[in-house]
Amino acid sequence: AEATVSHFFSSDDQQLLVLDRSPFYAESGGQVADTGTIEGQGFQLEVLDCQKNAEGTFLHLVRVVAGEPSEVQPGSTVHCNVDSDRRQHVIRNHTATHLLHAALRQVVGDHVQQKGSLVSPDRLRFDISHYEKIQPEQLAEVEQLVQEWVLRDVELKIYDGIPIEEAKSRGAMALFGEKYGDRVRLVEVPDFSLELCGGIHCQRTGEIGPMVIVHEGSVSSGVRRVEALTGVGGASRTRADEDLIHQLSSLLRVPREDLHDRIGTLVRENRSLKDGKGSAPSRSLLSELDAGHGETRSAGSAEVVIATWQDAPQEQLLQVADALKRRGGDRAFILVSSGNDEIRFIVGTSESLPSGTVHAGQVAKMGAGILGGGGGGRPDMAQAGGKAVDRLPEAIDQMSRSLEDSLAGKDS
Ligand SMILES: [Zn+2]
Repeated sequence: AEATVSHFFSSDDQQLLVLDRSPFYAESGGQVADTGTIEGQGFQLEVLDCQKNAEGTFLHLVRVVAGEPSEVQPGSTVHCNVDSDRRQHVIRNHTATHLLHAALRQVVGDHVQQKGSLVSPDRLRFDISHYEKIQPEQLAEVEQLVQEWVLRDVELKIYDGIPIEEAKSRGAMALFGEKYGDRVRLVEVPDFSLELCGGIHCQRTGEIGPMVIVHEGSVSSGVRRVEALTGVGGASRTRADEDLIHQLSSLLRVPREDLHDRIGTLVRENRSLKDGKGSAPSRSLLSELDAGHGETRSAGSAEVVIATWQDAPQEQLLQVADALKRRGGDRAFILVSSGNDEIRFIVGTSESLPSGTVHAGQVAKMGAGILGGGGGGRPDMAQAGGKAVDRLPEAIDQMSRSLEDSLAGKDS
């Protein structure tokens, strides 16, 4: 769009430009200002912001990106380019705010009043009067209602110069306590929303695209904040959420519909490990062992320690294994956690045992084979398990014999 420079104020830290007319939207009603460029003979300006003063004059905050500030003179003809991509993002978010407002009043209640609004290219933020948390089901309902009106692709109706009394009698939403002139501008989504508004909007609701509510929270007493994304931003958010779910699903090795249950289980397990079942649970397994729990078989000058616990956490078995490893004397051990449908066990050797005497990994693998499972590990430490719980005695017996033979053999 062509325009003529009226005034140009240049100082070190900022430059202000006034034109005879401007295609740039000045920040108003929570909708951020347009940005873009202004070009003239021998200079180019970047428009960073646009504000309207009390007299209604548009003040363009600009930066000289080419040419000299001295070349910008009153009377110069300039060409204005509004960043239209950015504006599209803004007006999608702005138009969605109207739908969101109407939907919140329908779902949450007609006590809902607008308390604040910010519309930027990347998101919209809308504050309302409401005294408690907006429940997730309500947010889902609000989002669905907005999406219905987006998909109906309704044409917005703009009415300029409507007498304020007429606007009020038609039930138009206005900002409580705001001073309006005698005549106002009405923006209507027929059969859904009617508001006093001077902003820029989509022509049809379908241009908004997907709207995703991403946040609900408290701002101050009695004021809740809702944040949402639309268009490309809404679609990207959904994509990112899909990726996240996929990553979690493969990390926890469960299908997405089981994620909630799986994480719930992990949280409970973690909590019980942390606070409970005795503050030093591994010490109690070890002290049980030292108090005579389990069995010790001699094998020449060495010994084989065998102990089984009902549902012992792997972490605690490993701590017992660690203690037996460091304790003096030549020793091999089999530590078992026996559950209703699964056996887990550790086979290991003490540090003092000459390497090559036994191979814990191979012994564990053999035991797991009997239990119909798998596992293995290093010569000095291995973990394995299986589901054939009724074959546990046989597995322990076979592993123990193998260890005893190897240990006894080292003496000869
Ligand atoms: Zn509006």
